[in-house]
Amino acid sequence: MRYISTRGSAPELDFAEATLAGLAPDGGLYVPTEWPRFTPDEIAAFAGLPYAELAQKIMQPFVGDAIAPERLLELTRTAYGRFAHAAITPLKQFDEQHWLLELFHGPTLAFKDIAMQLLGLLFEELLAKGGDPLTIVGATSGDTGSAAIDAVAGRENIEIFMLHPRGRVSDVQRRQMTTVLAPNVHNIAIDGTFDDAQAMVKRMFNDPAMVARFRLTAVNSINWARLMAQVVYYFAAGLQLGSLHRPVAFSVPTGNFGDVFAGYVAAQMGLPIEKLIVATNVNDILHRALTYGDYSVGQVTPTAAPSMDIQVSSNFERLLFDLSGRDGLALAAQMDGFEFSKRMQLTNAQREGASSLFVSARADGVDTLQAIRWAWEACGELIDPHTAIALHAARHSGLPRDVGIVTLATAHPAKFRDSVERATGHRPLLPGRVGDLFERAERIVDLPGDYDSIARYIAEHAFPRRSIRDSWRR
Ligand SMILES: *Cc1c(COP(=O)(O)O)cnc(C)c1O
Repeated sequence: MRYISTRGSAPELDFAEATLAGLAPDGGLYVPTEWPRFTPDEIAAFAGLPYAELAQKIMQPFVGDAIAPERLLELTRTAYGRFAHAAITPLKQFDEQHWLLELFHGPTLAFKDIAMQLLGLLFEELLAKGGDPLTIVGATSGDTGSAAIDAVAGRENIEIFMLHPRGRVSDVQRRQMTTVLAPNVHNIAIDGTFDDAQAMVKRMFNDPAMVARFRLTAVNSINWARLMAQVVYYFAAGLQLGSLHRPVAFSVPTGNFGDVFAGYVAAQMGLPIEKLIVATNVNDILHRALTYGDYSVGQVTPTAAPSMDIQVSSNFERLLFDLSGRDGLALAAQMDGFEFSKRMQLTNAQREGASSLFVSARADGVDTLQAIRWAWEACGELIDPHTAIALHAARHSGLPRDVGIVTLATAHPAKFRDSVERATGHRPLLPGRVGDLFERAERIVDLPGDYDSIARYIAEHAFPRRSIRDSWRR
């Protein structure tokens, strides 16, 4: 499979290059040249496969001959072998219409582990073939950082620099990052918001001086391989609920639009999906875009669901690309306008295309608390605030009763214990696998929120490309 940029002027890449690359040099995101498609018979034959085998089958068309099927299966078995639940992504029932897909049984208690555990192995696999050491630079509102750090800590030829907005991640999230003391892990707390951090990462990928010296790689959901790994659980849940014979919808707590875009990919690959519900908190740019066509940046308001406290949803660009006939140059012009004015109006084709599969909803703080309370009081389930936003959206979606709705549970309730306790009076216990998180020492670098300080720090601590090191020796 070959990969192209959503902005139409970067060279095509193969799977290995696309996995190791960050943003495309034209500022776009990589997408496969076409969506592989399974027939209903092929999908039906996936029923009952263990998760790691299903994962290999769904992902192989994207990987192509970069990794042989037997080897990819070994990698998926290793990645999902670290999960604390034998089903990997167990599905629970709330009531006759509503289901909960638990995606938080990985090492850092959030759904990001599902993609990141695999991505760490893919990096190692693809780097083993030689070339420059990797410098991973990422921005996190909490969960991406901990999942990425867990996945690459101590790995050869990889250095990771993770930026987070100081004071805006939960104590569990921060400690899951800062207590990893492997020498290749650098946690950087910046003054500012997640969007500020993400903007600096994007700028670094476009900074010729940094790109020439370092082999920069992204682990944000702009990384294609991450999205690919997330497609799998839509198939897993759809197969369990019999979506070939009965309408099934998914409600997805959405921030950067990666998770719900993976649902869109599953639909393009042939999985029947009735609707994808894009659930946002009060940082509702996506809800406004999908409802009124108005994609304009507002202020970020901190909420109890910090992984959704963002205004610019990078992966939305991938959807817009598909919905505008894959015309990269037209999209580049539209995105240039957006980057300049911080607002854009979706075209009619984009709006109509989106509305056939996507609906959206917004939950405020009260809605979130009420959903946590309902899950606890009516079903005895503790859910975290991100999940609660999606559950609120699912229960108020107005979809007919014969449509089964799967709410994606993206974080373990213990990761956001304070909010869960406030809503229910019950404090969720941290699972044993996180161990003595609160006793361990932390290591963290505090930097101001300006690009130059961050670029300088990274330049001083990362391994340059081989050619650059050789030129020093000469
Ligand atoms: C990252 C994250 C989200 C948002 O996912 P996107 O792919 O960015 O839309 C939602 N909930 C939790 C707990 C997360 O960590």
